Amino acid sequence: MAILKKNIWLIFYILTLTATLLFLTTLYFKWQNTYLKYQTSQENIVELMANATQSLFDTQERLMDILGVTIREDAHYLYEPQNIEKHANALLQNPDILAFGVTTPEGDFIYGSSDSNTTRIPNLKNRPESHNSFMDALSQNGMVFGRTYFTPELQKWAMPIRKTIRDEQGHPLFMMTTLFKLSSTFDRLINSVRHRQNLIVSIIRDSDFYQQYNSLGQTEYNLTYQTPFPKTLMDRMYESIFDIYQLTPKELKSDEPLVSFSYEDNHGVRFLTTVKYNKTYKLWIVVHTYFDTILKDFLQTVALYFSVFIISGGLFFFLFHLIASAEEKRRNDLLYQATYDQLTTLPNRSYLHQNIFNWTYKNAPSFSLFYIDMDHFKNINDSFGHQFGDYVLVEIAKRLKEMLPRGADVIRYGGDEFVMMTHLCERQELLCFARQLIDALSRPYDVQELHFNIGASIGIALYPDHGQSLDMLLRASDIALYESKKVKNSAHIFANAMQEGFLKNVQIEQELRKAIAHNELFMVYQPQMDVEGLVYGVEALIRWNSPSLGLVPPNHFIPLAEASGLMPKIGRFIIETVCHEIHTLHQRLQHPFQVSINISVRQFMDPEFLEHLLKIIEKTEIHRLSITLEVTENLFIEDVHALLPLLKQIKAMGIQISMDDFGTGYSSLSMLRKLPIDELKIDKSFVDEIFEDDAAQKMVQNIIAIGKNFGMHIIAEGVETKEQKELLSAFGCDRFQGYYFAKPLSTEDLLKFFQENSFTCKA
Ligand code: C2E
Ligand code: CA
Ligand code: CA
Repeated sequence: MAILKKNIWLIFYILTLTATLLFLTTLYFKWQNTYLKYQTSQENIVELMANATQSLFDTQERLMDILGVTIREDAHYLYEPQNIEKHANALLQNPDILAFGVTTPEGDFIYGSSDSNTTRIPNLKNRPESHNSFMDALSQNGMVFGRTYFTPELQKWAMPIRKTIRDEQGHPLFMMTTLFKLSSTFDRLINSVRHRQNLIVSIIRDSDFYQQYNSLGQTEYNLTYQTPFPKTLMDRMYESIFDIYQLTPKELKSDEPLVSFSYEDNHGVRFLTTVKYNKTYKLWIVVHTYFDTILKDFLQTVALYFSVFIISGGLFFFLFHLIASAEEKRRNDLLYQATYDQLTTLPNRSYLHQNIFNWTYKNAPSFSLFYIDMDHFKNINDSFGHQFGDYVLVEIAKRLKEMLPRGADVIRYGGDEFVMMTHLCERQELLCFARQLIDALSRPYDVQELHFNIGASIGIALYPDHGQSLDMLLRASDIALYESKKVKNSAHIFANAMQEGFLKNVQIEQELRKAIAHNELFMVYQPQMDVEGLVYGVEALIRWNSPSLGLVPPNHFIPLAEASGLMPKIGRFIIETVCHEIHTLHQRLQHPFQVSINISVRQFMDPEFLEHLLKIIEKTEIHRLSITLEVTENLFIEDVHALLPLLKQIKAMGIQISMDDFGTGYSSLSMLRKLPIDELKIDKSFVDEIFEDDAAQKMVQNIIAIGKNFGMHIIAEGVETKEQKELLSAFGCDRFQGYYFAKPLSTEDLLKFFQENSFTCKA
């Protein structure tokens, strides 16, 4: 069936061909039929004509015989021509007879019905038209036909029949001539048999091929009767007959068969001809039908067949056209479905792979490939559901389409990843356009009464500099994207150096996978002080000592762990280790103190996060109240609403929440008010600049004011000098952490630190 559908036109052509062949076969048989119909009816006519002629002339000959005897027995016929008239009276009554005459064997008229003054009638022997037949009649006993001619005396065309009457010794006594009216005798005969058929009957003498009679009509008489039927034509007829019947003229004359054949005359006119010879009178009876007549008859019937054929053909064509276009549409739809993304109506990944040659053909101009990835899009799906995510994707696609430069292509490569190919190639142009794209994509989204922002990161690769194939370009742009992802909301053009960094990261990632099992990860703790300079807690910080890579800083491998999906596992290791070690320290010091654990965004988003945390707290028996979770401000940028229930749950269990890196992100004040946060952590970057940069100082003051306003603790991290500490406490900051007090310490060092320093008792 599939093959049929594919080759619908082939079927149509086969059917059309078959139908045409059938049609042509039908036409062929129809033609044969028509031809045969004409031939049969023509043969009947010839047969009839032959019989009629034979009996006409037989009768005539018998009449002439009787008349001849009567005249011969009349002793005075020579001198009293009125006697002859009397004898011939019966004959002259026949309307078909034009005239009757009796001549001497020398051709002089003894009697002529047309003129009582016989001297006025021309001598038959001397007259050119009658000479031959006169001589023939004189030399034989039978009835002889004279050439059909025009008698000026009677103003009529006539066919003469002559017969010589002899004495006992056989010497000619006189000759009788009967003139047949051409117009009546034969015409009547022919009209009675001819029906509607457009046929020509002619009677031709075998001796000289002059026509005795022709049914063509008066206008043609002169030509017809004054010139013999061309010998060449006669020969051609003989040939045609021989071809069909293998009969020679001699056989034709002796056996008198009826033969039909087609032939062409000297003017190229074709006829269907039937011929029969009459050996008694040496006459050919010939009937022609114009081929055109048969053809016309044939075409009339065929016209009906043809219109049926054409109409049904047309209907068939229409039907097939309908099927074919439906099929074509279906195929296009399928192709569309396969190469276009239903949701955004953008072309999809398959489209890109199938059509990339439009960009990368031989000697193609250079172009740029933008790999666009939305920042933290997964959170939208996770928090609001996929339908919501779909709305956002549609909006993203719409914005991308609006931004599309001329001749560029945009493709939904998968999930929240889009690929755009443009003819831009200049570095500045590329970065500028990428910035415009990011700005457009990070405009607020309004979906279902929600109002939020998401960022986009872009990696750009150039053809052919960064790769000749799609795969190479995608890889290069992906590496550049990776670079952008580190910063978020930014764009990078691929550079070879990135590749090295990328490869390095790939190596780190591979090593990191083994790190937990190989015990390469461990925790250190940095003390946190209160306003009075007493230790009240620590921040747990992870360290990785890799045998092959050495000490890898956490802000290098944590993002890698996040990106590669290792974070939940590492996160569990952190919580487990911290709870275990701190609980041990609590027991050894007999003093519980606060511990802040950094929780990454991915870790926090893990649906099993809370369950796991509680399980470990229970297992290690650590006091819940001594745990603070440090979450970065960026966590809240994307979906406050989704996180709120989780935060409240955590809070309800007595676990505290600190907002890390505060001031670096985009969180709004109104949002801050909604969140159950216990502590704001001023980012180290502000503390660093607090003396040098007025803006930084203002920022610190603001953060402190806001935090106080909401009843939160304020902790400053990265405090390295006494001056920093003093200024911060003057501004109202109530907690401090930094090298000025202590670097991150191992558990043993931390134990010593606690023993050497006074600390506040939390519980
Ligand atoms: P963070 O959460 O902002 O941690 C503070 C960083 O500042 C730590 O770097 C700490 O060693 C450093 N620091 C503290 N006081 C001073 C100071 O006075 N001077 C200077 N120069 N640095 C100071 P570290 O341990 O390298 O961690 C870097 C980042 O890696 C952290 O930033 C945090 O985002 C991440 N990280 C570290 N440990 C963990 C962890 O256990 N879990 C998670 N999720 N992230 C972690
Ligand atoms: Ca921290
Ligand atoms: Ca920080």
